[in-house]
Amino acid sequence: MRSVLSAAFEQLLLPAECLLCHALLTPRDANRIVCPLCRQRWRAVRPPWCERCGQPEPHFGPCRLCAQWPAALRSVRSAAWLEEGARHAVHALKYGRVPRIADDLAAAMSGTRPPSDGPSALVPIPLAPKRLRERGYNQSEMLARALARQWHIPVLVDLLVRTRETPTQTTLTPETRLANVAGAFGVRNAKCGMGNFALILVDDVFTTGATLAEAAAALEQAGATHIHGITFARAAIPDFT
Ligand SMILES: [Zn+2]
Ligand SMILES: [Zn+2]
Repeated sequence: MRSVLSAAFEQLLLPAECLLCHALLTPRDANRIVCPLCRQRWRAVRPPWCERCGQPEPHFGPCRLCAQWPAALRSVRSAAWLEEGARHAVHALKYGRVPRIADDLAAAMSGTRPPSDGPSALVPIPLAPKRLRERGYNQSEMLARALARQWHIPVLVDLLVRTRETPTQTTLTPETRLANVAGAFGVRNAKCGMGNFALILVDDVFTTGATLAEAAAALEQAGATHIHGITFARAAIPDFT
């Protein structure tokens, strides 16, 4: 985990300009690293959508995208469409070595908070150990921690583990993606961790929901009954309605 010292150091190194468009930030935005204009360019995902998976409503018939999801996974929502601006932001979070941008992304995710009538906890989608070593941090954990600061709810970092490396998913169809991540997650410390929490899975990007569904399946198997998923961005799936 990032120390307070390194966060302060990061702040010193960063010029007072927008990380994405390099416009100067006003003093009002001093605690941000993305300017208001760039944040406005993140096109919000809005209804009408499938109440469960948050995907634009199918033209006819039931939603195919979430039909196979485990029953415990109640809803998934995303803040913005993965288009130029949001893609740039996700890239900065993942590869730019500027995890502090998570606070700006988390602020844009305020509308994705699932309704709850009890205590809830955030569960970041884990990275495979090898990828975590390469990147130095888990971008989903950074998002979850930023959301936890906003919403004042706990993050369960050690609950979910990745039990095997999965090939990168960018070129797979929805159906093969689900097979690709099958059995990729396990649950640790379920007894001390989950309690009576509604669990909110956190990931940076939703593509077909396969990763969230597989993580939810592992949690369900360990006894969780109330799971939601939230992501900053959502990729449009061509020819899938
Ligand atoms: Zn900007
Ligand atoms: Zn659906």
